[in-house]
Amino acid sequence: MIITEIKKLQTICERVSLVEEGEEIGAQLLKELTETKQGIGLAANQIGINKRVCVVNVKEPLVLVNPRIVEKSEEQFMFAEGCLSFPGKHVRTGRYTSVTVEADNHEGKLKFSADSEDINDAFECACVQHEIDHLDGITMFDRAMIAQPHRAPEKIGRNERVTITDGKETKELKWKKAQPLVESGDWEMASV
Ligand SMILES: [Zn+2]
Repeated sequence: MIITEIKKLQTICERVSLVEEGEEIGAQLLKELTETKQGIGLAANQIGINKRVCVVNVKEPLVLVNPRIVEKSEEQFMFAEGCLSFPGKHVRTGRYTSVTVEADNHEGKLKFSADSEDINDAFECACVQHEIDHLDGITMFDRAMIAQPHRAPEKIGRNERVTITDGKETKELKWKKAQPLVESGDWEMASV
């Protein structure tokens, strides 16, 4: 059973104290993942186990016990993601082009990079970041790339002093006094 309630997925998972325990959870995750057929990764909290274990299965099945990203590129790439916990939903996310991961059940560092000819490398690189995010209670929606909104025009404070003019006379007064005059159309903000 895969958890689909966002509240439950926002829990930060606890470290696993024994690698063996982590590997057992990993085996369970790979089994669940195979049953979904279309999934390429799964985190323990998606099946209700709030422990820091996740699996990725893009090129080969990979279990990660207490994984952490120890290095990441400055550069990001855009990726259209889905998640087994949110069937049918897709989000455009920004993911690091390369990451270096350490995990308690792997000696040395694991490197993932989207910078290759093989599209599976990009999948794996994004997937590993997606799964590690899950362990921190972060979902793909938190990584969505959104277009920058246009900057709202500067708001004038009620007590801010402004200069207005009607073409002959110039006044300097607080905005709360100036605003009705400006809105009447007879006066306008003096430009400096
Ligand atoms: Zn997911």
